[in-house]
Amino acid sequence: MDEKESRNFIENIIDKDLSEGVYDTVHTRFPPEPNGYLHIGHAKSILLNYGLAKEYGGKFNLRFDDTNPTKEKTEFVESIKADVKWLGADFEDRLFFASDYFDQMYEAAVKLIKKGKAYVSDLTADEIKEYRGSLTEPGRDDPSQNRSVEENLALFEDMKAGKFSDGEKVLRARIDMASPNMNMRDPVIYRVAHMSHHNTGDKWCIYPMYDFAHPIEDAIEGVTHSICTLEFEDHRPLYDWVVRELEYPHPPKQIEFAKLYLTNVVTGKRYIKKLVEDGIVDGWDDPRLVSIAALRRRGFTPESIKRFVELCGVSKANASVDYAMLEYCIREDLKTTRPRVMAILDPVKLIIDNYPEGQREELAVPNNLDNEELGSRKVPFGRDLYIEREDFMEEPPKKYFRMFPGNEVRLMNAYLVKCTGCVKDADGNITEVHCTYDPETRGGNAPDGRKVKGTIHFVNAADAVDAEVRLFENLVDEEKGVYNKEDGSLNLNPDSLKVCKGCKLEPSLKSAKAYESFQFVRNGFFCVDAKDSREDALVFNRIVSLKSSFVLPK
Ligand code: ATP
Ligand code: MG
Repeated sequence: MDEKESRNFIENIIDKDLSEGVYDTVHTRFPPEPNGYLHIGHAKSILLNYGLAKEYGGKFNLRFDDTNPTKEKTEFVESIKADVKWLGADFEDRLFFASDYFDQMYEAAVKLIKKGKAYVSDLTADEIKEYRGSLTEPGRDDPSQNRSVEENLALFEDMKAGKFSDGEKVLRARIDMASPNMNMRDPVIYRVAHMSHHNTGDKWCIYPMYDFAHPIEDAIEGVTHSICTLEFEDHRPLYDWVVRELEYPHPPKQIEFAKLYLTNVVTGKRYIKKLVEDGIVDGWDDPRLVSIAALRRRGFTPESIKRFVELCGVSKANASVDYAMLEYCIREDLKTTRPRVMAILDPVKLIIDNYPEGQREELAVPNNLDNEELGSRKVPFGRDLYIEREDFMEEPPKKYFRMFPGNEVRLMNAYLVKCTGCVKDADGNITEVHCTYDPETRGGNAPDGRKVKGTIHFVNAADAVDAEVRLFENLVDEEKGVYNKEDGSLNLNPDSLKVCKGCKLEPSLKSAKAYESFQFVRNGFFCVDAKDSREDALVFNRIVSLKSSFVLPK
């Protein structure tokens, strides 16, 4: 693809700014509110902001937008930091908190008051709303709007000193009560709230509003391009007003892009909280969720998420992306970078009756057919093996090429074997499958050139490692959609989690560590569960199956 042609609209804006000398550097930031875990949508914002800083040789900040003392939690600060780092967005030593700027924000408000651009209002929240008018009607002047500068300064000081109760007074910007943009009708910029803040404790009982605080935070940090999502488009005139009236020498510029939405996934904090509380998922990092912690736990790599975000592109139009595209990205990443090993999820014994009892061989098997650099390993082979239960049928349908009485198949990388029958228990369940092997076919090919149609994988019983394997489907019912139209509840898929116990894995997996991932022959890509896996009780999550009908959009 041509580099120039593929540039997104934000790059075009930046190119122009640099060529016209509006800015001589690029400085971006990611500004999460520490009130929940980050999700795949945030990953897009992080990688976009970080990617631009990197592309232009500029800087990227992580800044917690912690101006709202009610919802914020230190727990989220730590998880967000970890997620941003994991994604590879390096903020170096530029970790900031909006609350560190409360003094400067206070000074900024005082400056506006002195310029006659802000006033203390006695209206209640409801009255302010009523005075604001509507989309078709202009607002009405606030009865307090003509207070003198001195009076406003004194009242604002009193607000700060705790002389008013919550909601009794607010500071409003004086802009235009008749503006067609409701955000410009003298917006509230400071409110009284007697609340402790996780960072500043009880120092403040007034807190700045987001629309006032955010541009100041950007300006203080020297941010040039303040990238946010589309819902802030109507707030941009206010953003510009704030940086202009506060006379910052190099005011930052807000640019909006469309949020990333994925089909059939739950991202809303409110919903996830309920799923956690109801015990439907086992935390914010449940592998069926799309929080960054969940994707990581499931076995997604930062590279796969980066690729996904690139494929999504940056646009001004809201659209949903198919979850299958995310799966495509992880599959592409793991295909050539992870060993392909044998694991039996639903085991049944296979006994080779003519194989010498007590004999054990080791077969050299390449770790990844598409990547020689991953080397090879030894896979043990013996008389008693495990195979997938579905790889044997007593009475096979047409086109079934695996094991059935009389049929010859290949045991992957090992020998050709011919099925002789099976043993059942009193209830008719198959407990053993029997076969004989041809010792002349070591490696899986017959010297006489005869062909077999089926190749099945196995694990040598004596060396098998026991494990639990978890298979996932969508958390919500794809047919019905995410939300119930009647009551807004989630349309849950009752089969979103399938736990397979007593799985048998080849011994090379014995020492698999948290977050390590593998391709399991025929079953997909799997990752060691970082929360529940133990050295002697391994737990694997299926990241993604091997095949999909997904085609990459052109
Ligand atoms: P949510 O509503 O999902 O809880 P939020 O927007 O309240 O998310 P913030 O902490 O305010 O969460 O978001 C931090 C940054 O991430 C903001 O710049 C926001 O625009 C961006 N962001 C949030 N959701 C998405 C998304 N789905 N796609 C892209 N960027 C997003
Ligand atoms: Mg938000």
